[in-house]
Order: sequence, then C-alpha cells, then structure tokens
Amino acid sequence: METVSQNGTSDPEPRQLALLGATGSIGTQTLEVVRLFPDRFDVRVLTCRQNVERLAKQVQEFRPACVAVGSAERAEAFERVLPADAPDVRVLVGTEGLCEAATWPGVDVVMGAVVGFAGLRPVLRALEAGTQVALANKETLVVGGPLVAQVLDEGNGELIPVDSEHSAIFQCLAGESERSVEDLVLTASGGPFWNRPAETFSDITVEEALDHPNWSMGAKITTDSATMMNKGLEVIEAKWLFDVPVDRIQVLVHPQSIVHSMVSFADGAVKAQLGVPDMKVPIQYALSQPARWPAPHERLDWDELSRLDFERPNLDKFPCLQLAYDALEAGGTAPAILNAANEAAVGRFLDEQMGFLGIPRAIERALGQVPVQADPTLDDLVAADAEARGLVEELPLPASNSTER
Ligand code: NDP
Ligand code: MG
Repeated sequence: METVSQNGTSDPEPRQLALLGATGSIGTQTLEVVRLFPDRFDVRVLTCRQNVERLAKQVQEFRPACVAVGSAERAEAFERVLPADAPDVRVLVGTEGLCEAATWPGVDVVMGAVVGFAGLRPVLRALEAGTQVALANKETLVVGGPLVAQVLDEGNGELIPVDSEHSAIFQCLAGESERSVEDLVLTASGGPFWNRPAETFSDITVEEALDHPNWSMGAKITTDSATMMNKGLEVIEAKWLFDVPVDRIQVLVHPQSIVHSMVSFADGAVKAQLGVPDMKVPIQYALSQPARWPAPHERLDWDELSRLDFERPNLDKFPCLQLAYDALEAGGTAPAILNAANEAAVGRFLDEQMGFLGIPRAIERALGQVPVQADPTLDDLVAADAEARGLVEELPLPASNSTER
C-alpha cells in the first residue's frame, strides 16, 4: 500500500515484519537491512530459541509487540535480562508460541530464518493465514514441500526465496514464461574440502568444517556446505519453489561464489545473477521485490575478478548430494528422514561425538531403516522426523573419525 506525500512523491507504508530466528546469521543480517531502511519496516515480532540476551538487545532497539522463545525457562531468563525501562512486549513460548508469532495480527511479511525442521510449522501457519513468507529456512521445503505447495495452491499465501541460489533463479525468471525454461543451474562453492584429498576426510575437524571459504553462516548450514548436503537440500528446495522436475535441475561447482545461479532457456540463452557473496543482498531483495532499493552493499570489483570456474560435482567424494537426489526420488517421507538424520548427525559432529564421514553414513543408515510412507500428512512427517533423529542420536558411533563402514 502506498500513500502520496505532500510533495507528490509516493512513500510506501512501512512493512510489518515478523522475523523468526532473529538471533541467527540470517536474522541478524535481516535486522541490518532493516537498519538501512528504518522507514520501510515496522518490526512486530522477533523470535529465538535460547539466545535471550541477544533477543533482549534487539527488543530494545526494534520495539516489537511480541517475542517467542524456545521454553518457559528461556522466557523467565528473557524477563530477567530485559531492563525494567524496556518497552512492553508479549512473550510466547515453544512451538505453539512460534506459530502464534508467525501469524501475529497485521504482519505483512514473515522472514523464515529458523534453522531446521522447527521452521516448518510456523511457515505453514503463516502461509495458511495468507501472509507473504520470505523463506531462508530451506529445511521447511525439503521436509514439507508437498504440504507447502498445497497451501500455496489453496490460499493467498506467497513464498519468496531468500537462499542466494534461489533468489538468483527467481531474479533470472522475472518476466519469463514458464514454458521457455529449459534448466535451472544451481551453483555451489564446493565448500572448504572441494580440493582436499578424500583419503584425509576422516581427519576433518569441526574447526576446519566451519571455516567456509566464501560465506559466513550459522554452524549447521556451514557444515552442510562442507558435506555438500547443503546443495542436496537446495536441489529439493528448487524443485518445490519453481515446480521443475529434478532432472532439469543441474548443480555446478563454482568456487568463486560470484555467479549465484543461472537459468537456461529454450532458445539457448542463459541468464545468470552475479554479485559479491553477501546474504544481505538476497535478504533485501526478498523484502523489496519486485523493486530494488539503493543500498551500500559491496559491489563486484571487475579489476579484481579475473576468472569464473565451473566444474561438475564429485558425488563419490560428497555422497550427501547423491543421498539427497535419492531421497527426492523416493518421495513421501524420505526427504524428511534424510533431513532429520542430517540434522542429528551434524549436531553430533559439531559436539565432536561423530566424525565427518559419520554424517553420510548415518543418513544412509536412516534412509535404509526408517520405512518411507507415501503422501504424508504433517503428523506423518513429524513422526518420520522423530524416528530418523532418534535412530541417529542413538547410533553407537566412535568418538574418533573412522573410515570403516
Ligand atoms: P543460525 O543457527 O545462525 O540461526 C538460527 C535461528 O533459529 C536462531 O535465531 C535460533 O535461535 C533459531 N532456532 C534454532 N533452533 C530453533 C528451534 N528449534 N526453534 C525455534 N527457533 C530456533 O542459522 P542461519 O541463520 O545460518 O540459518 C537459518 C536458515 O537459513 C537455515 O535453514 C539455513 O539453511 C538457511 N540459510 C542460511 C544462510 C546463511 O547465510 N546463514 C544462507 C542461506 C540459507 P538461538 O540463536 O536462540 O539458537
Ligand atoms: Mg544457498
């Protein structure tokens, strides 16, 4: 909605924003974008799971009407750290609280920046309520793609991609007809281990896995980039966002992370979207689109940029990508099983209870053991998630990395 000011120019009404996962990497970068455009946003909702100290600082700066936190214990901790003179704010708790926050009255756009399966329910609820969702939380589409597609079909909700590759494709598709699209080409950095000999993968430490060459992100997605599961999740995400069959979604390793993704068309033309790797650009575009707002984000330096390389991914060295293709093909609850096993295995890797090679091994085991169910409901997905997660959490894997299978 726009209002016309006295000088005749049109000023947009501030967008009422609910930011789910406010304390994380995407959450804090979203607030950096909001700071650049204070008149364009009214932050109504902020949520976190446990980092109430950071949340309290955000509440003082952005003065939302509501926050949601992970547990009653965290809600008490939040009340303790919030200064007495802080603005009044409603405090919601747990999964139901997160869903209520996602459907807060008057909200125009929900930024879905929770990590993992926990993001699915609130995003579904926001879409059911007919709200626009800017989605970073790819696990939502990996697990619940068919449910999200159904809600979008039946209602007024709208989904805008935030993930840099999907934002790139979304930008390349603007103004194009669906029929003229041949292939989507997702680029991947290859992560920190693209050139590392596979024989040394059993020695990979948490510190090495968290040292991403191009992007600064949360720990879970950074580990997913190191195993290349991130690209597997993104193939599934692309399938549901753009309704393109998987055999028309290609992956290319592009170590410079300058081309964020591409679309090839029926006449042989290819469109690519390029830029410095900085998530604030796709975050801002998801909130401004179809407009582009002038912003001081870093520009590409053509004098520095000497080459752009592209290579096919190595599925033997990075089996997680193949596992994701397999799960997508199996359909039903298989992607939910893949995702839950991956979340649990990455958690154990980050806690140093499992080696790097244990991650694909645990996922393979879960996909082999948990029965796949076709046409799942949300409850079926929740059950599959719990079963796969439980299986991986109980795997008696050695504390040290082992190359034995
Ligand atoms: P972070 O781990 O940095 O942040 C996650 C946020 O979600 C935090 O606010 C966290 O709260 C909250 N959270 C975590 N678990 C739960 C839960 N169970 N219930 C409710 N809230 C929870 O993640 P990122 O910001 O890196 O990633 C967010 C999503 O965006 C992921 O799905 C990721 O794949 C995707 N993405 C991220 C990119 C990036 O550059 N970071 C790029 C593209 C996609 P608390 O801080 O209290 O734990
Ligand atoms: Mg991405």
